Amino acid sequence: MSILVYVENTDGQFKKSAFEAVSYAKAIADQSGNHVIALSIGNVAEGQLNLLGKYGATKVLNVNTEQLKSFVNQAYTTIIVDAAKSIEASLIVLSNSFSGKGLAPRVAAKLNAALADGAIELPTGSGDNLQVKTGAFSGKAFAFVALTSPIKVISLNPNSFEIKESDIAATIENYNPSIDAADFSTIVKEIVRATDKISLPEAEIVVSAGRGLKGPENWAMIEELANVLGAATACSKPVSDAGWRPHSEHVGQTGIVVSPNLYIAIGISGAIQHLAGVSSSKTIVVINKDPEAPFFKVADYGIVGDAFEVVPKLITALKTYKGL
Ligand code: FAD
Repeated sequence: MSILVYVENTDGQFKKSAFEAVSYAKAIADQSGNHVIALSIGNVAEGQLNLLGKYGATKVLNVNTEQLKSFVNQAYTTIIVDAAKSIEASLIVLSNSFSGKGLAPRVAAKLNAALADGAIELPTGSGDNLQVKTGAFSGKAFAFVALTSPIKVISLNPNSFEIKESDIAATIENYNPSIDAADFSTIVKEIVRATDKISLPEAEIVVSAGRGLKGPENWAMIEELANVLGAATACSKPVSDAGWRPHSEHVGQTGIVVSPNLYIAIGISGAIQHLAGVSSSKTIVVINKDPEAPFFKVADYGIVGDAFEVVPKLITALKTYKGL
């Protein structure tokens, strides 16, 4: 029995979440005496594929065809299911990313497998009784999910499991599964990236601002702070509703859910709908002039002060620290 881990790439480069998924699968494999086989779909160079051994994969199945260069949900599902069957995988691990959210339930349904989506810790138990801790209710609670079928699927929340290096030289094998034309009934023709900025759902640091900023003309300092930190920018819902910032930056219950290592909230009150999208951030820093702002209750660090005074000072201090 093996563990199959699907590793997602963007333009031929693996994301950090892919290495997290491999490390997670390796940690489970070490507990259960299994080994990890990675599955890569798309045009990924050998140098990148070799990296998967570094995180614990003994073998990499590499699907490299032009037709599958872009993500196609049904076709990718078929390939993952096919690979899982061919290696008799008892567990399939993937990242709970945008595409992982679409793939995991499809893969589980096709394999008659039990599914835990949004895992945040290593499972406990063994065999046909694996307990997985997952985030629930937009990160406001945890669920402990028991997976009791012989085949299991776990999707891992990004930034939930630390990357661990192993010393394995993975063998790379070209894998050519047969795919049905029906799997291409919906295809992505082209992806046009909105900006070359850091992608918000995958960012390790997020600088986010709210209505306390008063207007769109004041976002230069938010962008500057984000640039200095190598962070993505985000905002509260009213800010994007007012057109101050694009909707792609809106985080919260009705927006994007983020789980960065550092979330800096500036001039955001901390309404429950906003917190739903950010509460699984590792460290939360709040800058707000109102000491009673609800956001302070969930903050690891808080600065009570006027954003227009605090943020420029923070930028200057960070630039000095970084020698910029
Ligand atoms: P405000 O509530 O107006 O807060 C502004 C904050 O800035 C205040 O705390 C104030 O003290 C502070 N401030 C003012 N001036 C300064 C200054 N100079 N320096 C420092 N601080 C200052 N909201 C989301 O964000 N995401 C969602 O996904 C979302 N979904 C929703 C879904 C539903 C169904 C509903 C009903 C609401 C939803 N909301 C969502 C809206 C949410 O309830 C809040 O209204 C919203 O988050 C408030 O945004 P804000 O904190 O930017 O603005």
